[in-house]
Amino acid sequence: MNTPPRAAILSVGDELVLGTALDTNSRTLSAALRDAGLEVVEHRTVRDELGAIESAMRELAARSDVLVSTGGLGPTDDDLTRPALNAIVDGGAPMVEDPVARADLESWFAGRGRPMASINLRQAMRPRSARIVRNPGGTAPGLHASIGACSAWFLPGPPREMVPMFESDVLPAVRPAGAPMLAKRTVQCFGIGESALAELLGERMARGRDPEVGTTASGSVVSIQVVARGPGAGARAEAEAAACAAVAQPWAFAGEGGSLAGSVLEECRAAAVMLAVAESCTGGMVGGMLTAVAGSSDAFAGGWISYSNELKERELGVPRGTLEAYGAVSRETVEAMARGAAERAHAGIAVSISGIAGPGGGSDSKPVGTVWIGVHDARRGRTAARRFEFPGGREIVRDRAAKAALQLVRWALRGEDAAMIWERA
Ligand code: AMP
Ligand code: MG
Repeated sequence: MNTPPRAAILSVGDELVLGTALDTNSRTLSAALRDAGLEVVEHRTVRDELGAIESAMRELAARSDVLVSTGGLGPTDDDLTRPALNAIVDGGAPMVEDPVARADLESWFAGRGRPMASINLRQAMRPRSARIVRNPGGTAPGLHASIGACSAWFLPGPPREMVPMFESDVLPAVRPAGAPMLAKRTVQCFGIGESALAELLGERMARGRDPEVGTTASGSVVSIQVVARGPGAGARAEAEAAACAAVAQPWAFAGEGGSLAGSVLEECRAAAVMLAVAESCTGGMVGGMLTAVAGSSDAFAGGWISYSNELKERELGVPRGTLEAYGAVSRETVEAMARGAAERAHAGIAVSISGIAGPGGGSDSKPVGTVWIGVHDARRGRTAARRFEFPGGREIVRDRAAKAALQLVRWALRGEDAAMIWERA
């Protein structure tokens, strides 16, 4: 195979160099260029300073086939990418107004019913030797020019403007012909540890296989990453991901971009049941996760943030005797909470959570991180509860508890069961 084209990435902005903002564009661009078959050789970050931008552009263009620069295209005096490029490609000659860029700017402001400030017209200017890259998501058009043998692209800084422009205009132009096809799939799992998952996957994770299978962990979610290369990569990655998901049941809950809440809502719809929640230590996080999914109203009834014992008793019907005898963080209490929530919400299934998120409130028998989660399945008249000891600070304990509750609902609806890594009998 020919050597891949060399790519360099330039980020422009005081905020990036001074540490007020994180340069996420370089990471996004690097990964996308690499996947497209280019070799990324350098990242450079410079301040909003004409000389620094200009010399970075010259140097990077001299040693790469493709340069992608982001930032510094705005209308204000500290946006200097345009004049820096103009100095390089046209020796600082007067720039020209681009009619398409001007029309786009005018319709952008007209569409929002706002007058255009005259400084915005600067964004319609381009070096004579450059062409514009239209920006459907903002006012700053991008630019494309040749700097010597280097194909150089200049995109606005905000990621939600930059990414669509990169995907629609830059990537198709710089992707090497016949580049190795690469397809990725993700399978997200919750409740299993990374090493236990690796054991389940066994030989599938052996190095040098195609598709390649690996695991990563983030936010208590462990993901299986599948990468296939070459002809038919998409179908092979898909088949391997499906096989991995089957091996990782019941922990595997979704593919790339999916969420536990989204999977739970789908299971509710498939089973034609409504879900209710009764949350104590998670204070509404489960409800928050469920309602973050658009269209959740057809499967999520609602619930209670029953933080105090009084509310557990009055709103959910947990007997006072139960609270007194076993405490708020107990099997008996969460079972009564789940039953009460299902009944009062007329829901087919309900989940309840009561625990000690910390940092205070722990004891020898119920250390910080102890959480009871109950599920009441009204269709079967069955209630079950499980005890967890989640490690981590308050935020992590609450996040894990909320996700574990969703996973338990998912399992109950699918008639599946397994142990979770944080479970303690
Ligand atoms: P600019 O195109 O320079 O006007 O950038 C506008 C905004 O885009 C900045 O204030 C940042 O919030 C964001 N931005 C610029 N460069 C980057 C970058 N490399 N990564 C992530 N965000 C960026
Ligand atoms: Mg800037």
